[in-house]
Amino acid sequence: GRTVCAPLPVLGRDVLVPLVTGGEVTYAALDYAASAPALQRVWDDVAAYAPYYGSVHRGAGYLSQLSTDLFEQSRAVVADFLGCRPDDQVIFTRSTTDSLNLLASVIPDATRVYVFETEHHASLLPWRDGDVTCLPAPRTPRQAVETLEAALADREPHGPALVCVTGASNVTGELWPVRELTAAAHAHGARIVLDAAQLAPHHPVDIAALDVDYVAFSGHKLYAPFGSGVLAGRADWLRVAQPYLAGGGASRKVARRDDGGVDVEWHSSAARHEAGSPNVIGVYAIASACRALTEAGFDALVARERELVGRVVAGLARIRQVRVLSLFGDDSPRVGVISFVVDGWNSSHFAAALSAEYGIGVRDGLFCAHPLVRTLLGSEPDEPGECGAPEAEPGERSLNAIRVSFGAGTPDEHVERFLGAVA
Ligand code: PMP
Repeated sequence: GRTVCAPLPVLGRDVLVPLVTGGEVTYAALDYAASAPALQRVWDDVAAYAPYYGSVHRGAGYLSQLSTDLFEQSRAVVADFLGCRPDDQVIFTRSTTDSLNLLASVIPDATRVYVFETEHHASLLPWRDGDVTCLPAPRTPRQAVETLEAALADREPHGPALVCVTGASNVTGELWPVRELTAAAHAHGARIVLDAAQLAPHHPVDIAALDVDYVAFSGHKLYAPFGSGVLAGRADWLRVAQPYLAGGGASRKVARRDDGGVDVEWHSSAARHEAGSPNVIGVYAIASACRALTEAGFDALVARERELVGRVVAGLARIRQVRVLSLFGDDSPRVGVISFVVDGWNSSHFAAALSAEYGIGVRDGLFCAHPLVRTLLGSEPDEPGECGAPEAEPGERSLNAIRVSFGAGTPDEHVERFLGAVA
């Protein structure tokens, strides 16, 4: 297991945190599902490039040309990382949220969108209200496929349709049956977009092999810093739709019309949706992370993570008061994302204690997936904050949950400290 950690030093330096109980420990970052620590390799690549960056695409100077080359090479690296088909477009965005909003803005009018209520809000909310069919939470992967099939069989034939589904849940870490859902979507003439925000850091995502139409993911969960994301997939809708952002870079030719209006010819390449000066460093960082993960090899990463997931699930199962949350059953395969509640504990207080007394960073709340957490807890949280939940009194049933998440470079000690602290 440690050989996986060795080529992927995660934190450039250990962060010491003071404990309420006295003393200091190195910080155990166990909130990878929110944002994973950037790889040292990514920081090194960014630091090496930083003195040379310039504005892309329009500059005649050396730094602009260098940056343009690196920007377009980064696109090719991401296309390779995702196993894109030759005609697919790779568009750089700010995040998964941005990518899915972009897709929502380019789907043809009257596209029917199908989405499970269990999705992260980034997948659940970007679609036009009247055009969405929100499917109930399935309790098995098979039921997910059957639910989708039944909904698609019911729809008006011939109109465009899009299914949006997560690859791995940001709450339970459970893997969704992407291949089967894709087959069901395609059998009914619908397209499918994979929200790979939680899947891509943990498993290879191959667009062509999975046969999905679009993939979205975020750099900051894939061991790159904040600020860059990707939408990749079929070019036809993207090529003709109104640009997501209007402005320089997206337009090929602009002219004033005699009637006082403006005529615009937009690019049909990825540039159409990337108006303005792009986040060149963020894009370079995403490509660096893709390269690092490919070189480390997903076989090794998956094996190491499976071992850690097994240890955490088994360790939590030994603690009588802990209930691990799952939609598909406790034994269902999952990435390193595990949510739980503790009898007699308010989840927010519990997470705060893990931080203050043990130097462990986890997350508590509803994880921007209110309907899913509500289903898992069998509760009705009223008026929660955007991603939070109202406080339960100690001893009351929890209205929110605690989430521990980890990945490449998580040392054994962090997991042991976590299990010891919970116990
Ligand atoms: N989808 C899933 C499954 C996620 O976990 C997240 C982030 N928590 C998002 C989408 C949104 O990602 P971002 O905040 O980077 O836009």
